[in-house]
Amino acid sequence: MKVTENKIYNPEIECMDRDELKALQLSRLQETVKLCYERVPLYRQRMDALGVKPEDIKTLSDITKLPFTNKTDLRDEFPFGLLAADKKDIVRIQGSSGTTGKPIVSGYTANDVEVWTEMVARSLTAAGGGQDDIIQVTYGYGLFTGGLGAHQGATRIGAMTVPMSAGNTQRQLMMMHDLGATMLCCTPSYAIFLGESIREMGYDPKEFQLKSGCFGAEPWTEEMRNKIEELFDINAYNIYGLTEIAGPGVAYECPAKAGMHINEDHVIAEILDPETDEPLPYGARGELVFTTITKTGMPMIRYRTHDLCTLTEEKCSCGRTHVRMGRIMGRTDDMLVIRGVNVFPSQIETVLLRVAGVAPHYQLIVDRVNSTDTLEVQVELTEEMFSDTVADVERIRDEIKEGIKSVVGIAASIKLVPPKSIQRSEGKAKRTIDKRGLTN
Ligand code: AMP
Ligand code: ZN
Repeated sequence: MKVTENKIYNPEIECMDRDELKALQLSRLQETVKLCYERVPLYRQRMDALGVKPEDIKTLSDITKLPFTNKTDLRDEFPFGLLAADKKDIVRIQGSSGTTGKPIVSGYTANDVEVWTEMVARSLTAAGGGQDDIIQVTYGYGLFTGGLGAHQGATRIGAMTVPMSAGNTQRQLMMMHDLGATMLCCTPSYAIFLGESIREMGYDPKEFQLKSGCFGAEPWTEEMRNKIEELFDINAYNIYGLTEIAGPGVAYECPAKAGMHINEDHVIAEILDPETDEPLPYGARGELVFTTITKTGMPMIRYRTHDLCTLTEEKCSCGRTHVRMGRIMGRTDDMLVIRGVNVFPSQIETVLLRVAGVAPHYQLIVDRVNSTDTLEVQVELTEEMFSDTVADVERIRDEIKEGIKSVVGIAASIKLVPPKSIQRSEGKAKRTIDKRGLTN
């Protein structure tokens, strides 16, 4: 495997003394809390309800006095209720899926775009990137943060940026080959698919110049890392982020490949026990909660990611001092990430409830076939429909398929099953069977 140099984009910040970093975090936290209290009715109401004022934040641990924010708040306040800035100062909207059919959106001021761009610039530099690189961006461009996020960071470090967006494997490989791309940014599952397609499409892997890649937006494993590194003969780095906080680059791996450094000058990370909401010590697995401390458009106070992982404050061999988070080990809710798209069973349920002839009994089977995620929706027909004509059944299948495509944004295969054939559970219904083995 090619060696990637340990380059640091902003050593002054990334290798900052931890005490200094904590002092910086505290003053930025105080400013953010004040901004939220003054400008966002929801934050003010919640803080008033808890009897906490911005002046009560005197130390970093006072953060636990603050209320939580959830994805449902973004849904309820959709689209602009959580803005702390005037609408005229918002220069960008990005979005992600919510728990229902509607997306959730986040508004960015010019400052926020700048903050996010710096985060990705750090991530790409940590993966060995610089102005001599040709970076192929194969994350989707659009409301999804992946494409534009990677694009901005790649442009910032002066690399030659190739905005391919997702899909069209043949064209991806042709451009990668002909331009001599040196870095790749895409989901890890698509990276494997691309890698496996090299020979099939008549290329010799030796003709590619790729040296590294930043892969994220979905859970993956060390086995998948090994596979990507082997297929392309590159270094594969993990990159993590979420729309509510910024986008990709909230945390990124360095050449040590031992967890992702969290950009702690821009966010404060907490790990909580998801049952009791109490803070957990470093090393313990819990729910990751972020507070943004430099965002001015839609700052987030104690945003519950529902992602489960561990944090470590141990010194890293790369010289960076920012805390590292381990791989995402699962979720505290039922969100699935399928082909990089966030999917909630409730979204699928919304679609099913609109279709006549099916019963609200369903199961989602998620698998990975040829490195590509597949989603099968098994749904029961009603007694009346079960005895009906084939044409009607076909119509139902199409209606569900189209509904899922438009609400969730991904293609699913639909299996209509006889009434009462899906196992009933006595407690919480088990809606999902995930056979991919990505979490533990
Ligand atoms: P989105 O806002 O649509 O980009 O989705 C963010 C979610 O994607 C996160 O909360 C995670 O659940 C997941 N995600 C993003 N990056 C990673 C990663 N590197 N590893 C595992 N999950 C990730
Ligand atoms: Zn490191």
